[in-house]
Amino acid sequence: MASEIKKIAVFTSGGDSPGMNAAIRSVVRTCAYLGKECVGIYRGYQGMIEGDFKPMDARSVNNIINKGGTILKSARCEEFRTAEGRKKAHEQLLKEGIDAFVVIGGNGSFTGALNFNREYGFPVIGIPGTIDNDILGSSYTIGFDTAINTVVDAIDKIRDTASSHNRLFFIEVMGRDVGHIALNAGVGAGAEEILIPEQNLGLERLLESLKRSKASGKSSSIVIVAEGDKTGKNVFQLKEYVEEHLPIYDVRVSVLGHMQRGGNPTCFDRVLASRMGVKAVESLLEGKSNLMVGVRDTKLVLVPLEEAIKAHTEIDEELIRVSDIMTT
Ligand code: ATP
Repeated sequence: MASEIKKIAVFTSGGDSPGMNAAIRSVVRTCAYLGKECVGIYRGYQGMIEGDFKPMDARSVNNIINKGGTILKSARCEEFRTAEGRKKAHEQLLKEGIDAFVVIGGNGSFTGALNFNREYGFPVIGIPGTIDNDILGSSYTIGFDTAINTVVDAIDKIRDTASSHNRLFFIEVMGRDVGHIALNAGVGAGAEEILIPEQNLGLERLLESLKRSKASGKSSSIVIVAEGDKTGKNVFQLKEYVEEHLPIYDVRVSVLGHMQRGGNPTCFDRVLASRMGVKAVESLLEGKSNLMVGVRDTKLVLVPLEEAIKAHTEIDEELIRVSDIMTT
């Protein structure tokens, strides 16, 4: 029941994403606003097992809404995957008098929360924080918008040099299992081809497309490659393959790497995180649990964690079509 929850914990888990701080701030301030105690847990489930807790009040989250990363740090914790690890975590939470928690993270973090709830009946709510935008049930995850803007900015800069030297650039972006970053940033930056894990266009089609591009008078080209692209070749092997089969091109590779996770969150991510934090705390106080706060058609929704972790969000077929048309 609502009145039974007096102290709520918040933590970030898995890969960090820009906007996590805005979500922490929102959870902490909503607790303060509603007269509840709030505790930050450092380093995700690892800190939970070790009792690495810090009481947080409205002032402890001053000046963080604009900062990338997470002030509570994030971690991956093998021990929490075991029943023994979760038992230790439960003991620590009881010792601290914590009644419920909000986990900000991705699929793995939600699976951990669900397992924990099943074993101890502990109220948990998830907030999707990952740059990959791969969580089922939410059109956006916190950090995705910032990441695609960072990628677009980087591609714009690379394009300047690509067009000055008539070069072909392969740009690798994050996305081992899903191509949302590649597809959205690729369309946004006007890439000639976008290679994503969801589609195997094949090397032949890539060559054909590059030949067409050259024949149509384009002097430089940008190809975006998601890490998990299924053509069977990584970005450096793609470069070698194209150099071998299309020697007309002067090919370069750029791997964007961890810069995609960093930076100040966009306004979109800050607002989304602020809204989700409020909803997470209010939901716990209404006696809800095992849910993720998501957003669909601009409205916040509550999605069973069980649904959210079932699969990755499917790629947007309409956007693939738009991309195909734009590369004409
Ligand atoms: P990202 O999208 O950045 O990968 P994530 O939340 O999916 O974020 P994971 O590394 O998969 O990141 O999971 C984070 C943590 O959640 C793990 O280190 C582990 O502590 C916990 N976790 C993951 N899966 C389970 C599980 N099946 N049971 C218990 N805990 C789990």
